[in-house]
Amino acid sequence: MSSPKVERALTRPRLFDTEIGGLRVRVVPLGLACCAVELSAGMANLAPACALAPDGAVEPDCHVLVVAGTVTHAIADDVRAAWDSLPEPRVAVAFGACTISGGPYWDSYSVRPGLGDLVPTSAVVPGCPPGPDTLAAAVAQAVAAGAAGVAAPTPVASPAEPNSRSGGPSSRSEDSEDG
Ligand code: SF4
Repeated sequence: MSSPKVERALTRPRLFDTEIGGLRVRVVPLGLACCAVELSAGMANLAPACALAPDGAVEPDCHVLVVAGTVTHAIADDVRAAWDSLPEPRVAVAFGACTISGGPYWDSYSVRPGLGDLVPTSAVVPGCPPGPDTLAAAVAQAVAAGAAGVAAPTPVASPAEPNSRSGGPSSRSEDSEDG
């Protein structure tokens, strides 16, 4: 793994264990850009239902990787490695417009148009940035989708904000029309 950003997140992870639908769930946050701030606030909001996993904690029934922020080409292999490092069963959440589609940087030479085929996502949270209060629902949706074998995620509703962008393909056309 060559990216210090991803390596830091995984070697000194803040793992959170919670219970959803009778399953022990471990949430693994991977903040890559400004959405990481909202992700951190969302993780805090999960408490007290979600507690910091102690060393040697019982292995969970499901891991949830939450990727939040711009996925550049340079970091893509490490994001994939982060996903591969999680034991099965595992699901992923794309948190924010950049993680879904590249967001405001969708046409940048250095930015991937979202996780795409890099990591299969079971829940997506639109917004630039999404509110932290959306995280719990997204994690629950991802766990439920993984348990049901559902492939195509339905966006988790994000409260409307003045500067929010939806993060989907439609937002790209809106952007170009604005411009
Ligand atoms: S979606 Fe917006 S807030 Fe989130 S990482 Fe991208 S630019 Fe930053």
